[in-house]
Amino acid sequence: MRILKFGGSSLSRKDGLHLIKDILEKDKTFDKIVVVSAFSGVTDLLEEMLDLAVSGDNSYEPLLSKMESQHLNFIKEYIPIKNQGFIISFVKSHLIKLENFLDAALSLREKTSKIYSKNVSYGEILSSQVLTSFLDASGLDVKRKDARDLLFTKKVEGKSIIDRSKSREAATKFFDQNEHKITVVPGFIATGQNGETTTLGRGGSDLTASLLANFLEISHLEIWTDVSGIYTANPDLVSQAIPINNLSYSEAMELSHYGAKVIFAPTIQPLVDKNIPLYIKNTFRPEDNGTLVSNKSTNSQFDRQVVKGISHVDNIALLNLEGASILRTGDVYKRLFATLAESQINVSMITQASSNHSICLAVNQIDANQAKFVIDREFKFEIDLNKIQPTFIEFDMVNIAVVGDNMKNHQGISGKLFSSLGANNINIRAIAQGSSERNISIVIDKINVQKALNTLHENFFEEQVKQLNLFVTGVGNVGGNFLDQLESQKEYLSENLRLKIRVVAIANSRKLLLSDKPIDLQNWRKNLENEGVVASREKFFEHIRKLNLRNSIFVDNTASSEIASEYLGYLSENIGVVTCNKIACADILSNYLELKRISLKYGSPFLFETNVGASLPIIDTLNNLVASGDKIIQVQAILSGSLNYIFNNFKEGIPFYKVVLQAKEEGFTEPDPRIDLSGMDVARKILILARESGLGLEFEDIENRNFLPTECLEAQNETQLFESLRANEAHFQGMLNDASKQGARLKYIAELKNGKASVGVHMVTPDHDFYNLKGSDNIVLFYTARYNPQPLIVKGAGAGADVTAAGVFADIIRIGKR
Ligand code: ADP
Ligand code: ASP
Ligand code: MG
Repeated sequence: MRILKFGGSSLSRKDGLHLIKDILEKDKTFDKIVVVSAFSGVTDLLEEMLDLAVSGDNSYEPLLSKMESQHLNFIKEYIPIKNQGFIISFVKSHLIKLENFLDAALSLREKTSKIYSKNVSYGEILSSQVLTSFLDASGLDVKRKDARDLLFTKKVEGKSIIDRSKSREAATKFFDQNEHKITVVPGFIATGQNGETTTLGRGGSDLTASLLANFLEISHLEIWTDVSGIYTANPDLVSQAIPINNLSYSEAMELSHYGAKVIFAPTIQPLVDKNIPLYIKNTFRPEDNGTLVSNKSTNSQFDRQVVKGISHVDNIALLNLEGASILRTGDVYKRLFATLAESQINVSMITQASSNHSICLAVNQIDANQAKFVIDREFKFEIDLNKIQPTFIEFDMVNIAVVGDNMKNHQGISGKLFSSLGANNINIRAIAQGSSERNISIVIDKINVQKALNTLHENFFEEQVKQLNLFVTGVGNVGGNFLDQLESQKEYLSENLRLKIRVVAIANSRKLLLSDKPIDLQNWRKNLENEGVVASREKFFEHIRKLNLRNSIFVDNTASSEIASEYLGYLSENIGVVTCNKIACADILSNYLELKRISLKYGSPFLFETNVGASLPIIDTLNNLVASGDKIIQVQAILSGSLNYIFNNFKEGIPFYKVVLQAKEEGFTEPDPRIDLSGMDVARKILILARESGLGLEFEDIENRNFLPTECLEAQNETQLFESLRANEAHFQGMLNDASKQGARLKYIAELKNGKASVGVHMVTPDHDFYNLKGSDNIVLFYTARYNPQPLIVKGAGAGADVTAAGVFADIIRIGKR
């Protein structure tokens, strides 16, 4: 004999009944019991209709029609017309009975468990008959048997439980004599002590099947559903989740108790009692392995894997009780739990902090107000005396459990759980570790559930691959290059660094391309143009915030001060910022410090390597020196590719203004060359280096030894600038001559020494490291306690869209490697 249970998901999805028939027909040897649930959504609909009726609202009529047409549609789809007569009248007559029942509930206005059970039983009564008629019409030897003749419940201390001996007797007697190859049994329903219809709890058809398996001592139980087993996490929320091949009974019990609704938690115990293995299989992919739940916890698939699965329960509320030493007394606990038990309120988690005299309980959200009411009533006396505070409820919480039999033998599981959630700024509101140590359970805000599940899943099951989610603003020269580099390195990153970088939004000053899936980087230009919506900074920010993805990074490739002013908002939302825009870091000191503080507080990376020397690892080197305890004595640097180019090409016989013009034409200067010539750009860079080395300097503290005559400095526009440069040629030639006389070259140098920073033109002799610096290269000499007298030197191309893009890319990789 085989027992196969098919859930509403199997019955209701396209081709469901045909696939069920195929599964049943495939094996001719064994007789079969087929336990079925109601069609999907029908039990919910029945509950809704009853709620309307008992609240005095007769608008359940349209819902009844919906339920009727739902069933008739299945009949039309699966059963030949000639065989439809009986089943159509079965459905119609039952729906008339249901309508009468609801009408009675409307006038009675009472919802007892007897009324509830009778009402919801219609779902399974109808579905089991539809399936039976379909199999019968398909030529199979099939008969329906009402579960209310087989399973009986009884009340013990106010709780309805299965009357095992009575049920076993009825089930064995019936199946001993049954001669049909297939018997369809409606799940979920049973008969109570007074002959009334009862139910086994929502999701209870699984339990119907496992009870029958226990009573009939079946070799194994099969639960057929719409997924290929119990997954490492709910596949609806975690797309990377995979089916678990093997689970022990206790692991399956923990996972289902904490929300893996693929199996109803009480289903496991009757199987444990008789050591009956359970197979969870996919009706729509019967060839898939599925999950085997048995008394063995070994698991070849995850031999090294101690965490087997992660599950979660939605709609939890936390009840907080606080009071002085009184909460330590045993009597308080006794009263607390007795009063909750009397009101049939289940507590899914308890944590207690004896030091601050508080107890925190997790309960189902719908029970929260009632729980508060009964607790406050029980402790009214103590509350009046101010010994206990009235219960405080926090709504919209989720309970997440990380489960595995072997967790107790491994250190570091909770550490990993907390650090990975902490890195994503997910606040844990309550924690409990079961005494079995098979489960660590936490409560977090509902808003973070998907982020938390994916973070935990990544850490416990996909350790090798880390996902980063990028939101890119500015796709001109630097940004465009950056996206192209990402695309071309995609495979390398995934294979060698185990990094999966997804770009989820792209913006320029005109358009936004917002998505919740990775944007195709081969066609981003076309897609931004064709599918992008009108640019709006607020929309962009809201999109990122709402997606609430783990490892989110905002990438700024612009030079906009407006965008720089948004960083604080991003960092406060645990969104990292990577930027080549210097404005934020060179802004007033308090602003820079606030960005750093918030980045640390929320664990949001803030990287801006390209602010100084494009992709040269200058800031990173400085940070590493400082972090490793070295002391910065002096920094000497050429940090302007433009000025280096200009002074390298300013030779005898060539007027200064012509060199500047040439530099501009070749794209080596800022669009407005005054920013370079005035030294402002270099001053910003040395300011950033000074701050990164720990000095609290403002822009005004940078000594700017300006080399331009006042007339040039005061030029109002570019034309005036070039005119004044030309008019002051003698000044520039004078500088050049002075240098030549000493065998020196002119270089624009930034310096940091004794807590002071300066920028200006220097004469550099051939023995200096700067003398031979070519083209638009940058160079930085770090003189430190360790690197002295020989400095640590970083040198190379310090400007250009492709190297800047590479620098932004390198910052992203730095975050990925953390
Ligand atoms: P049935 O109708 O067959 O009883 P259910 O809808 O009760 O099926 O359960 C199957 C569903 O459980 C899946 O489609 C999935 O949405 C959900 N689910 C939640 N957690 C898990 C998990 N860990 N593994 C598999 N499915 C899960
Ligand atoms: N139909 C019931 C429910 O929806 C029982 C079940 O599906 O297992 O809860
Ligand atoms: Mg189910």
